[in-house]
Parts: sequence; C-alpha cells; structure tokens
Amino acid sequence: MASKAIVLICDGMPDRRCSRLGGLTPLQAANPKSFGWVASKGECGLMDPISPGVPPGSDTAHLAILGYDPYKHYTGRGAFEALGAGIELGPNDVAFRCNFATASEDGTIVDRRAGRIPDEEAEVLSRSLDGIRLNRNSDVTVLFKHTVEHRGVLVLRCDGLSRLVSDVDPHKVGVRLLPSRPLVDSPAAKKTADALNEFVEVSRRVLMDHEINRRRALRGQPLANVVLPRGAGTLPKLEKVPDRFGVRAAAVAGGAVYKGLFKAAGFEVLDVKGATGTVDTDLEAKMRAAISAVSAYDIVFVHVKATDVVSHDKNPAKKVEVISRIDSAFSAVLSEVDLEDACIAVTSDHTTPSEVGEHTGDPVPLAVYSPGARYGTVERFDEISCALGTLGRIRGVEFMPTIMNCLGRVPMYGE
Ligand code: ZN
Ligand code: ZN
Repeated sequence: MASKAIVLICDGMPDRRCSRLGGLTPLQAANPKSFGWVASKGECGLMDPISPGVPPGSDTAHLAILGYDPYKHYTGRGAFEALGAGIELGPNDVAFRCNFATASEDGTIVDRRAGRIPDEEAEVLSRSLDGIRLNRNSDVTVLFKHTVEHRGVLVLRCDGLSRLVSDVDPHKVGVRLLPSRPLVDSPAAKKTADALNEFVEVSRRVLMDHEINRRRALRGQPLANVVLPRGAGTLPKLEKVPDRFGVRAAAVAGGAVYKGLFKAAGFEVLDVKGATGTVDTDLEAKMRAAISAVSAYDIVFVHVKATDVVSHDKNPAKKVEVISRIDSAFSAVLSEVDLEDACIAVTSDHTTPSEVGEHTGDPVPLAVYSPGARYGTVERFDEISCALGTLGRIRGVEFMPTIMNCLGRVPMYGE
C-alpha cells in the first residue's frame, strides 16, 4: 500500500478526433511515455467530471475531483479567484473576477483585455482601485487585487450582500457593458448589484485620469479604462480534504482560480517561481516542487493549465507539443519518487476539443498506479486506450475516494 500520492491534472487535455492530426486525438498523436507508464502499471478508466454529457467549468470540475458534489457546493467562481489571489475571504464577502478592458465613451466594449495590458501596469491600476470609497453604498468596503495579465479580483465586503447578481461583463466586444441586476428579488441582491454598479462608475473615473492610461494614450495603446466584473461568488463551506481523509495535502498550480480551489479544499498551495498558469509556465519547476513536497505531505496535486489554453486557441499541433513537454517534465516524478510507496495518478478536469475551442461533456481518461494494486492491460494513456481499463467509468466525486483507497485512508462503511 502507498503512503503518498501525486496527482497530475492537465487542464482540458482530453480531445476528440482532430482532422488536422489525421483523425487522432492530440494525446494519441503525442503518445506520452510517462503517462503511458502510469497507464500500463496502473488501473485505467474514464471519468465524467460532473456527469455524462455535462460540459464542466474548470471550477465545478475541480470541486468534483476534490470530492465535493458541485451541485451542492458550488457558490460561484469569484470566491476561488479571490482566495487564489491571496485575499482572506470572509463569510459575508462577495468576490468577482475582473478584466481590465477598453470601452468607448458610451461604454461600448472595444477590447476585453485592454490590449493585453502588461502585469506591471495592471498591478499599478489595481492598487489605485483597492480601497476606493463608494458614496451611495458607503458601508461597503472595496478590495481589488491584480492576478495575472489583464485580470484581477474585486471583493465587496459588507453584511447583507448576495452573490446572486448578473455580470457587468457582456463577454463580447461591440456591445455596451451591462448594468448588474439582482437575479432574485431580495434586498441583499439589490444592494449588491447597486454597489457593483457604483464600483464600475467610480472605478471608470479613477482609471480615466490615471497616469498609466495617459502614457498608454501617448503610445497609441488601448486604454484600460473600465473594469468588467463577472462570476460573483461567496466562500463555500467545505469539509477540508485533510479533515475528511486525515492527510496533509499540498498543491502546485499557477492560475488564481486553481490556487483558490485547492485552498478552499484545505490544501497548502506551494509557491513555485515560474508557475504562471500559461503556456510558458515552468513545468520542470512545478514537478520539482511536487517531488520535494512528498516528503512533507501525503498527497500532492499538480495542476497544469497549458493544455486548456492551446485548446481554446484551437491549436491541435501545439497541444501535441504541450502534452509532450508536460510528459517529459513528469518523467522526473517517476524517476525520483519512491514508486514502492507512492500512488501516481494522471487525469484531467474536462475535455476541451482543440477543433471546437470550448469545453465539452466528453469523459476524460484516468490512470492510477499504486504499488501492489491491481492493473490491467492498457499500454497507452489516451481517451480510447483508457476506456478499456479496469477502473471502468467513474464520476469526478469518486476520484478522491479512489486515490485515498490506495493510501488506505477511506474509513470502512459498516462493520
Ligand atoms: Zn479546466
Ligand atoms: Zn478552459
């Protein structure tokens, strides 16, 4: 029996047949050797992160994979972004993820990423919005923090707020930003929508006069003159993974939402320099961090976002390359971790077909190696090979018990 576990989650890695890859999936075309080792020495199967046919968001899929029924526990994405950005979220806070964007004078969105404003400028703008005062809603405290590139997190702090408000972000260009509306008829939702709209007005004035934007105007760059909040969320009440299974848990991730998801589930999120949540993330550094973490923690998750990024960019050839790079970095885990004492699992949070560019409801492949455990006849790690494995087809919420069973950490049910 293993006493440790390392779980690799490659975001959006599973795919469909790609005409540009001669009808293969990127995983089939890449034929990753380290993942193939886990498949051949472990049990394989398919996993429906939510349930068959339901396209998962990354947030709900991770909740499920971490053992929580997303239909019961999901309270919006914003909270995870805020936790991941390092904001201590209180029970009455409502958090939003935000873009810095470019709007014309009448509020029509011209560029949802403000010309992909660089980190340093977005950081300065974010600081100027953190703590700004609202007048109509003077009892609401505003927190604002930059995350990566054009993205940030807004938190509205006050008693009696609600996450049930609509997005200001219209999610496309050429239309005006939307006033937030209450989604239910409650004073809390009305107040939150009003405070959010007031924040958007006040922040536009701050941004309009900002030094950074004057410089961008001189250089002919799109102005970061509006903030587009979306994905209102509140802190979910979750039984932490360490409490549920009696393990010390750590995670390596780049993107704020993933760091926040792991924090919400009670994981220690390790600070890894170069883990960016983008395609140029330092995969070797992430794997090294995971390898050294197994001495202090019982279970270590590694999340890699790059596979999902190239899938949304509709680039199957690049996806093959990214999978091969992850696989080669992951080989260090197999050579350096004591495989007589460690369970190793490889899977994903959802399928993102790279010729579709969106998440779909197809199941994801799963391979779980554990010393002394059963294994089947699957030799390769891909969507089709894993379907023939001994694990069959499980749901996302069954993943943690499957891993914890390899560590003998699931209490017996009955006598
Ligand atoms: Zn995802
Ligand atoms: Zn995605």
